[in-house]
Amino acid sequence: MGETRHTKVLIIGSGPAGYTAGVYASRAMLEPILVQGIEPGGQLTTTTEVENWPGDTEVQGPDLMVRMEAHAKAMGCDIVSDIITDLDLSSRPFTATGDSGVTYIADAVILATGARAKWLGLPSEEKFKGFGVSACATCDGFFYRGQEIVVVGGGNTAVEEALFLTNFASKVTLIHRRDELRAEKILQDRLLKHPKIEPLWFHTLEEVIGADNPLGVEGVRVRNVQTDEITEIAAKGVFIAIGHAPANELVKDVLELHNGGYVSVKPGTTETSVPGVFAAGDLTDHKYRQAVTSAGMGCMAALDAERFLAEQDG
Ligand code: FAD
Ligand code: NAP
Repeated sequence: MGETRHTKVLIIGSGPAGYTAGVYASRAMLEPILVQGIEPGGQLTTTTEVENWPGDTEVQGPDLMVRMEAHAKAMGCDIVSDIITDLDLSSRPFTATGDSGVTYIADAVILATGARAKWLGLPSEEKFKGFGVSACATCDGFFYRGQEIVVVGGGNTAVEEALFLTNFASKVTLIHRRDELRAEKILQDRLLKHPKIEPLWFHTLEEVIGADNPLGVEGVRVRNVQTDEITEIAAKGVFIAIGHAPANELVKDVLELHNGGYVSVKPGTTETSVPGVFAAGDLTDHKYRQAVTSAGMGCMAALDAERFLAEQDG
């Protein structure tokens, strides 16, 4: 039998939502346990400069998350390196099973599991993942010094990845299925002015092509969505940046969801469809998906949990 730990508030996730909930729940003397998951610090650890975190004109994503972790810890949050593999919300107190073998018994749960990168779903993408195909420029950009790279997508992530990759690549082709970017105007301007970046409008990636021995990417086959014409582009690296899907695996069959998988909350609160379970950040938010909005919701979730527990006691 593994260890069993009881907590008033279990926070699942260590992105801006989770750590902010940790700060607030600790200051409310709820002695929370925060389980970090497979990606301590969350999505911002996969980027470089963050320019829209209030109070910092520019901060490196990983540095910001180290500071948030230290802040939560300093307030008394018990930060645990573990992954929740199962969550039973059928009765209170709730039971969460950790990959470590620890069972967490919680009077309230704050879900802050965020979102994960989406993939195109092509067999060739799968084949070359880790061998030239990536969803993280900051993690893998360094490997493509002086090489040609393609980036797929038209949102903030794709544009930021393309700009970042110019630090290494000789040329970056941004493949987008429309001729209009979804990214913020300031990022669009930087992209369109950049001498190393060439946008390829109205195209989709059909296949990643490369060598088998050793496994490595040599290019991509793209389709013009207006003419159906197929062409090839030489590239050593392929970065997929087509958005993120909410990490709802623990609760998708239990909680009410909206917009294709985001956890529903009562408007103006973080209350989910199960009393005592709160959701914050990208897991619940299909619209804003920002660090600052996630942090704001983390604060709300801790305050909502505090009120819920006080009502149970009273
Ligand atoms: P996430 O940051 O997604 O963190 C989720 C956490 O949940 C992780 O710690 C993970 O380990 C944990 N977790 C998941 N499943 C489990 C489990 N089963 N058990 C335990 N833990 C689990 N936003 C901005 O405001 N400014 C930017 O400049 C910016 N740049 C970005 C650049 C990139 C490349 C990306 C991908 C996103 C960027 N964003 C930016 C968006 C921002 O990162 C997200 O909105 C924010 O991180 C969401 O925070 P979150 O706390 O909801 O979840
Ligand atoms: P996103 O905004 O959802 O954009 C996804 C892009 O990929 C869109 O351009 C979309 O095309 C394209 N796409 C989706 N599926 C595709 C497919 N199957 N084939 C080809 N193209 C496909 O996702 P994101 O860029 O990852 O951003 C996610 C959230 O994080 C956003 O809220 C964003 O603001 C935030 N974020 C913020 C910053 C920042 O503030 N600096 C940085 C990064 C991310 P269409 O446009 O045609 O739909």
